[in-house]
Amino acid sequence: MPTLTRLPLETYLLAGQAAPLECAICQHENRVSAESCHICSAPLSIARINAEVRRPAQLVACIGAPGTGKTTYLGMLMDMLMRQTGSLRTTLLGPHSISLQQATTTALAAGWYPDKTLRDPEHTCWVHCRVECGRRRRRSDIVFADFAGDAFAEELEHPGSFPAARAMLGKCSAVIVMTDAQRLQSGEHDDDYLSLKLLSLIDEQNQKDKKKLWSTARKNVPVALVFAKADTTPACADDPVTFAENHASSLWQDCRRRFPKTKVFAASVTGATGFKLVGGRRCRVPLRVEPQGIVEPFRWIVEQMP
Ligand SMILES: [Zn+2]
Repeated sequence: MPTLTRLPLETYLLAGQAAPLECAICQHENRVSAESCHICSAPLSIARINAEVRRPAQLVACIGAPGTGKTTYLGMLMDMLMRQTGSLRTTLLGPHSISLQQATTTALAAGWYPDKTLRDPEHTCWVHCRVECGRRRRRSDIVFADFAGDAFAEELEHPGSFPAARAMLGKCSAVIVMTDAQRLQSGEHDDDYLSLKLLSLIDEQNQKDKKKLWSTARKNVPVALVFAKADTTPACADDPVTFAENHASSLWQDCRRRFPKTKVFAASVTGATGFKLVGGRRCRVPLRVEPQGIVEPFRWIVEQMP
């Protein structure tokens, strides 16, 4: 005699999977159970948290040429914010947000600068954090990514090759422009061209958005021009504005012309840098970790953001 088995039809599960989840960065639809966007590789937890708190996170674009110190700066920034220094209170959202801080502090503790960020989108470190600032403890959710400088260059050459970088430039509420103070002082200006092109792209997108209703709050995107490795250039550490006028005049003027809210900062993660021979190659190594001017640019843009 055949045995009867009762099989429940869990069709509601299929219905749940069918509802798409829109990526918070590139706005493409993804499977609801996916971890990262299939188009731009951004973590989908950003979209889930945005939906939970019912407000979109503000995007901060950190731009600059390869080797300007974006990874070291952003990793040290997160480390300092997590120690609750000053008036900013920061909470990381999502486990992926800790990776950048972890990679930077581990490398510095071992006596190395962090490795250069790989160009592949899946290797980009994303940070999603909740920041409270000011006397009224104004709360903002902020998202930024540590893109490789090469990724920006590639996206400019071949539009669409790095959808996440393009989306960040198009939608950012604030910009951190990283430049290498040491290279500027020695008269190397090749890095400026990439930053100038990226700023032009952000400005172009802003001009388009001004025609839309929701864009009124986006008119004044704050731009922090950060001179990294200021420990190697005392003139920059002492007076970054005069340094900008003397050594980065075209970039400084372009920032101010396009974005009225522009401020210049000098930042350094280490107190001194030395060189070590590794496999016959001279490698820069940090001699002592002594962060200066790391949190100031971030605090300023958080205060200035609409
Ligand atoms: Zn996406």
